[in-house]
Amino acid sequence: MKSYRIGVLKGDGIGPEIVQANMRILKAALSQFQESFVEYVECPIGFEAIHSHQDPVPASTIEELKKCHGWILGPHDSASYPEILTERRNPSGELRHTFDLFANIRPSQSLPGVQGLVQNVNLVIFRENTEGFYPDRNMYHGVGEWMITPEVAISTGVFTKKAITRIAHAAFQSAMERRRKVTIVHKANVIKLGSGLFLRTCQEVAKAYPHVTVEDLHIDAMAAHLVRRAGDFDVIVTENMFGDILSDEASMITGSLGMLPSASLSSTGLHLYEPIHGSAPDIAGQNVANPLATILSAASLLRTSFALEEEAAAIEEAVEAVLASGKRTKDLSAKEGTYQITEDITHAVVDALKQRVKTIV
Ligand code: ATP
Repeated sequence: MKSYRIGVLKGDGIGPEIVQANMRILKAALSQFQESFVEYVECPIGFEAIHSHQDPVPASTIEELKKCHGWILGPHDSASYPEILTERRNPSGELRHTFDLFANIRPSQSLPGVQGLVQNVNLVIFRENTEGFYPDRNMYHGVGEWMITPEVAISTGVFTKKAITRIAHAAFQSAMERRRKVTIVHKANVIKLGSGLFLRTCQEVAKAYPHVTVEDLHIDAMAAHLVRRAGDFDVIVTENMFGDILSDEASMITGSLGMLPSASLSSTGLHLYEPIHGSAPDIAGQNVANPLATILSAASLLRTSFALEEEAAAIEEAVEAVLASGKRTKDLSAKEGTYQITEDITHAVVDALKQRVKTIV
């Protein structure tokens, strides 16, 4: 019998609601296909951990995560943490730094029955995850921002050939399995050294993949192109902050921020799966959050960390079936009052999953 240990980090805001949904789907998927022993290891993070350990990412959580085969993370609301913690890396930054989660992979695609701004989208963003313009994770020690006077702040961007080389290889390798096109997104015309190094290094890596078509675009132009012709892109590779912004845009183009899963891959083989969206404090506790991004992150975990392709595909097909049937959470519903609550949409995905398994087992 196979045995899996999954770390579960609920996070803040809507985190507990959607991670709960994710666990229901994982349990349903893992129990349908084969006998397996699954242990869900819940570790405190965010506000829960501040209350229990006075620390948003306690050392005990890090130690437990090291013993798991993969983790599901809910979003966090670090902007609301007590003032004393603002000097610290936020939970995402801390996990990315500690576990060297260097490649944040964010797919975006058109889904059946969901009216997107652009049709036929099927792209994936490879976001460098350990440095770039996010100063909470680009230093070995401390945070790369300084307040020189109350009216002067300095924020650093960090770009290293090593980090750019490995995200570029990850992107090109993925392109080889897809439509063989990579778009390098940068701002080398203005940020000549940092973004210039990013562009040049990606172009050097590209030489090892002669069958992949390569183009490069400035981040501002890319933001505009995505709205008009997102369907033309296959793999996009970019630095940390540009990738974060572009993936929010890509999610809205195909439907909603509540739909996009992500995987953060590490050099250690221990990977993290989470939705791309934040903790949405404005709708927390109302049972209206869209759980599909987190549910699709479960599929990504099963495929990437456990090589359970059938189970992963069954989850994705169940999500598609639910959307095709017209069921919607509030963020996707065109008409006021005609939406399903989080629990109901989760239930519908579990039903569709069981239905799907009946036809293939
Ligand atoms: P962060 O910087 O942590 O990523 P953010 O500032 O980008 O967070 P979000 O928390 O992602 O902001 O929320 C942005 C908007 O999207 C809010 O109006 C929120 O309600 C909505 N939203 C985010 N996630 C979901 C979801 N799963 N379901 C429904 N609405 C969502």
